[in-house]
Amino acid sequence: MRLLQLSHSDLTRGVEALRKAFRVEAPLPERDHFVFGPLPAGAALDLSAANTRLSAKSVIYPASEKMLRVSLDPAKEDHHVYREADKDYSPRAVLGIRPCDARAFTLVKPNFDNREYRDPYWVRSYECSTFVGLACKSPCSTCFCTSAGGGPFDTAGLDVLLAESGEGFIAQVLTEKGEALAAAAGWSAAAPEGAEAALSAMKAEADARIVSRIETEKIPGKTILSLFDAPFWDDAAFACINCGACTYLCPTCWCFDIQDEAHENEGVRMRNWDSCMFPLFTLHGSGHNPRPNKTARVRQRFMHKLKYYGDKYGGGIHCTGCGRCVTHCPVNIDIRRIASLMNGYEPDNACAL
Ligand code: SF4
Ligand code: SF4
Repeated sequence: MRLLQLSHSDLTRGVEALRKAFRVEAPLPERDHFVFGPLPAGAALDLSAANTRLSAKSVIYPASEKMLRVSLDPAKEDHHVYREADKDYSPRAVLGIRPCDARAFTLVKPNFDNREYRDPYWVRSYECSTFVGLACKSPCSTCFCTSAGGGPFDTAGLDVLLAESGEGFIAQVLTEKGEALAAAAGWSAAAPEGAEAALSAMKAEADARIVSRIETEKIPGKTILSLFDAPFWDDAAFACINCGACTYLCPTCWCFDIQDEAHENEGVRMRNWDSCMFPLFTLHGSGHNPRPNKTARVRQRFMHKLKYYGDKYGGGIHCTGCGRCVTHCPVNIDIRRIASLMNGYEPDNACAL
């Protein structure tokens, strides 16, 4: 790890220099919020957002992407031959990503890239990306990353981490990819003596500002069946309107559906985000639905986030504590409250909501 000092103009000049070698994506203002997207030519990098409304997962894993294309024109020789859709996997710099969203990629990676299966679209999209994070000096009241395994200065999943300091930034260059990006940006000025201590002090101050937490410590010791049959799920799910907002906003929700579409003589196979909160998600062709009601669907979402993921992948929870689902659920279903119920539940000591 190497520490560099950047002024604001170093950052601005660096972003322009990066455009020669990278596609640059960053938070972009859109009405009253920010979303990740390609930074338009000439546009300045705006790092004023506490976080983007939708997480940065769409940068690697778009909400809707073409997987394959096929000609449906019987006159064509390659009629009905499926070919991979054209995609751009040239180097990409993702600038201004918050530590919770960068860490989310490390949590979803075992699903998309493991010994039995490699999702080619996700893996290539992830591997062509270099992540330049922005440490959170003023976290939101709904952030609970420090009890979800991360933190406002967490470096997991990042190649470079920028922390605002004085008139510019201290940049931690963390990986070889980060070194290549710093070289392309022309960032080379070593941080002054004392920068490491300053970073530690900023980190401690930011950590202390996270007052919200999620309680999950006792969940690994409980059996799936005991939690599955716990009496609080009906009450927990009562207000849910199955809108799916929690899953679409979440940086770690990964479910998708695959559909073929025909447009005159052209066909495409699309992969679209889906949601375990929708009744259709588990509806079988036979008409049977193993998750037939919202209690079953809400239970699935929280059991997956807080129990199944840790059991399957060797610990931890499938949540970074970004707080988006807490902020945007229209009926105030709060993962911290559900975690507390699961954490405190003992089969002989059933607790009420
Ligand atoms: S479950 Fe909620 S708080 Fe956790 S990562 Fe997903 S959106 Fe963020
Ligand atoms: S955002 Fe809230 S209401 Fe909508 S599906 Fe998620 S838990 Fe249910």
